[in-house]
Amino acid sequence: MAKQQAAQQVADHFTELYGSAPEGVWAAPGRVNLIGEHTDYNDGFVMPFALPHRATAAVSRRTDGVVRLHSADIDSGVTELRLDSLAPGTDSTWTAYPAGVLWALREAGHTVTGADIHLSSTVPTGAGLSSSAAIEVVTALALNDLYGLAVPGSRLARLCQRAENIYVGAPTGIMDQTASACCEPGHALFLDTRDLSQQQIPFDLAAAGLRLLVVDTQVTHAHSGGEYGKRRAGCEKAASLLGVHALRDIPHPDLTPALSRLAEKARRTGTADAEELVRLVRHVVTENHRVERTVSLLRSGDPRAIGPILTEGHASLRDDFRVSCPELDLTVDTALTAGALGARMTGGGFGGSAIVLTAEPDVPLITKAVEEAFTTAGHKPPRVFEAVPSAGARRLN
Ligand code: ADP
Ligand code: MG
Repeated sequence: MAKQQAAQQVADHFTELYGSAPEGVWAAPGRVNLIGEHTDYNDGFVMPFALPHRATAAVSRRTDGVVRLHSADIDSGVTELRLDSLAPGTDSTWTAYPAGVLWALREAGHTVTGADIHLSSTVPTGAGLSSSAAIEVVTALALNDLYGLAVPGSRLARLCQRAENIYVGAPTGIMDQTASACCEPGHALFLDTRDLSQQQIPFDLAAAGLRLLVVDTQVTHAHSGGEYGKRRAGCEKAASLLGVHALRDIPHPDLTPALSRLAEKARRTGTADAEELVRLVRHVVTENHRVERTVSLLRSGDPRAIGPILTEGHASLRDDFRVSCPELDLTVDTALTAGALGARMTGGGFGGSAIVLTAEPDVPLITKAVEEAFTTAGHKPPRVFEAVPSAGARRLN
C-alpha cells in the first residue's frame, strides 16, 4: 500500500511539473550482491538480489525529439535536452544516466522520439547498492513499454550498461543492470557473466527464520577508482601469464598447480608483482567456487549454511584481493562476535556496504553491536537496514 502511494506521489509530481498526467509509472530496484565479488570482469559468477529500495519514474512520450528530465532527489530543476544532440562524455551530472539510456536505445536502432521523465528513488546513492542502475533500468523499461520496443530485460540491461560505460563513462560490469531488470522476489539471481545465462535461485530468508542486514558504512575512500583499475589490470596480466582467456577458465581443483605455474612464470619473466598476482588469482578462483557452493546450498533449501561461505569471501577480499577497509572489517568482525551466521563486504570495496546473515531474533543485538562499535572507533554512524529479496523492474500503473 505504501508503495502504491509512493507511485501515486511520483505521478502527481509529474503532473505538477509537466502539466498533464503521465502515461505510466515504472519502478526498478537497487541490488546487493550476495556473493561473487570482483568476478564479473573475470568472466565469472555473481549472485545479486534486488532490494526493496527502488527508483520510481513517471514517464510520457513526446514527438518533438526533446527529453525533459527531473529528479525529486536532486535540486536542479527540469533539464531539457535534444535527442539529436546527445553525445557520450558531454554531461557530467545525474541526467547523463537517463539521457544515456535514450542515447543507447536510439543508437541500437530503436525509434524513440522524446520523453518527459520525472523520477524519485529510495536507493541510497554511492553506497554500492546501485542507485545508478536503478535509474537507468527504470528509464529503459518505461521507454521499452511506451514505445512498444519489446526488448527483453536482459537486453535492456545491456543497453543500460552501454549507457553507463560509454555515455556516462563509468567502467562497470553487467551485474547491476541485470539484477535491477531481472531479479524476482524471494530469489537471488545466479548470473554467469561470460554467457549471460541466468537462473533464479530460491532465497526466501523469512521462511528460514533468517534476516539479511545491509550495513551502509557511509564511507567512500578516495583511492577506490584507481585501485579498481589496478586489480582489474592485475587479473588480466595473471590470465595472460597463465595462458587463459580469463581467470574464470581456471577450475577450482586446478588452483594449487595453477598458482605454482603462475609464480614460476612470473619469476622467469622477471615480473615484480608475482606475489600480488598469486593473491588476485586465488581470490577470483575461490570466489567463483563460493558462488557455486552457495547456489547448491540454496537449491538444497539450506540458506543458513551459506553463512560461513560469506565470511570466507570477506577474508579473501580483505587478505588476498585487499579491497576492504577498517569500517567494513569492523562491521564483519563485530557482527560475527555478536552471533551473526556470516558477514562480508559487498560491492567493489574501500567503503560502501557490508551484508550480515543472521537468525531473526539476533537482529537487534547485532545492529546495536555494530552501531556501538562504530561510535567507539570514532566512525560516522552506519545506516543499517534489512534487505528482503524483492522484485526486479516492472510497471506499477
Ligand atoms: P551507486 O550506483 O553505487 O549508488 P554511482 O556513483 O554508480 O553509485 O551512482 C550514483 C549517481 O547516480 C549519483 O551521483 C547520481 O548522479 C545518480 N543518481 C542515483 N539516484 C539518483 C536520483 N534519485 N536522482 C538523480 N540522480 C541519481
Ligand atoms: Mg552505480
